[in-house]
Formats: sequence, structure tokens, C-alpha cells
Amino acid sequence: MRPYVLAESNWKTIKEQKTEVAVLTWGATEAHNYHLPYATDNYQIEAIAAEAAKKAWNAGAKVLVLPNIPFGVNTGQADVDLCINLYPTTQLAILNDIVEVLNRQGIHKLLLLNGHGGNNFKALLREVGARYPKMLLITTNFFQAVDRKQYFEEAGDHADEMETSLMLHLIPDLVLPLEEAGNGEEKKSRLTAIKEGWAWSERKWHMVSADTGIGNPKKASEEKGKKFFEAVTRQVANLLLDMDKIENIDRYGN
Ligand SMILES: [Zn+2]
Repeated sequence: MRPYVLAESNWKTIKEQKTEVAVLTWGATEAHNYHLPYATDNYQIEAIAAEAAKKAWNAGAKVLVLPNIPFGVNTGQADVDLCINLYPTTQLAILNDIVEVLNRQGIHKLLLLNGHGGNNFKALLREVGARYPKMLLITTNFFQAVDRKQYFEEAGDHADEMETSLMLHLIPDLVLPLEEAGNGEEKKSRLTAIKEGWAWSERKWHMVSADTGIGNPKKASEEKGKKFFEAVTRQVANLLLDMDKIENIDRYGN
């Protein structure tokens, strides 16, 4: 039993245990090119949260990882088989209920650790934060926690070299041989503003990628995944340690 993982804990230990920071991970259930499993985002984010919490716990932080939410926003993949979509308004309702419980029980710090590019929590946290002003609500995307260019050769953002390397490190048995993967080629928007990156429109997956991947996975390796996992979990552990120490009412200053 890992005392920093709620799913593995029991009432006997929990009733004696002080929790300062709760961690909620949020993934997705979606196609990941031909070679990675549908729960890739969930496997990744659960492993990252548990390892980061372990590092923080061993350094004295009172952190507790809540069970993962396995469905995310997949409005852009409506035509891809078995991509299971939650609307942002549904996410808001779920998040609100979880924060209500934490707030009532005096756990006033939450890290919302995102594992899926379609989930955007800023607007949701603004709304929930206005309802529960005692809460310190922080979110981060694991895939932006460190500079990915230092770890991977090819750019991408879905079932790419990064995700494939991470899965080769975490659960290699669930990764098909890389010869079976598509090359994750992405069709770009014909609109200049979107191509330049200063305007945004949701990508319609069936129009931008033939194999559902975005980013070539062929240069992925277990070694790259291991290094990236180590760097990301160290970074998230540092955030948890900071959150553990800070007083919510004294969190700004020079
Ligand atoms: Zn993914």
C-alpha cells in the first residue's frame, strides 16, 4: 500500500493521516495512432502522479493522489471509434463536486494534473475557485512541465515520439511494434492566422490525421521515455513540495 495513493489506502490509516495537498489526475479514452492503447493518457498520468507524490512524500509532504478520471474532452474526435467524450460542462460539474468535498473536509489545496491535450481546466478552475475561495487550485499539463525538445527529436502532440517513449518505459507490453504505427502526419490549417499560431480552432481529427496520431513516433525509445518520466516527476514533485509548505493566505509576496 502506498500511503499517498487514496485508491490503495484504507480508513484505518486515512483517519489518522493529515492531507495537505490533494492531487487529481484527468486523462482521456481515445485512439492513439495504431500502436498505443486507448487508455494511454490515463496510464501516463497515473504513473506520473504516483511517482511525483512518492518523491514529495519521501521529502515530507502530506500529499494524496485521488483516483484518476478516465474520460476527457474529445469533441474533436467525434468521428473516431470509441473516443469517449465528456463535455467541458460535465467536467465542471465533476470538478465542482470533488472540490466541494475537499473544501468541506479542510483539504484546501488541489493540484489538477492534466494528461490530455483536449482538457482545458483554466476556465473551470476560475469558476470553481470563485465558489470555494479558501481553495488553492493549481493545474498543469504534464506534457508542458519540462522542455520536451531536450528529450525528443520529432515534434508532435498525440501518440507521438514522446507518448510512445513514455509508454515503452511504463507499459511496453501494451505497445505494438513501431513498424505497425502510422507516421502521425498532420494536415495543417489553410488559414494563415491558425498556421501562425495566434488564432485557434479545434482540430477535427478525422480531417487532420489518417492514423489518429499527430507526430511521428518512429524515433521513440524506452530510454528517452525513462529520462522524460524522471524529469517530469521531479518537476511535479517540486510543485507538490511548494504547495505543501505554502500558507494559502500568504501565497503572494516579493
Ligand atoms: Zn495521449
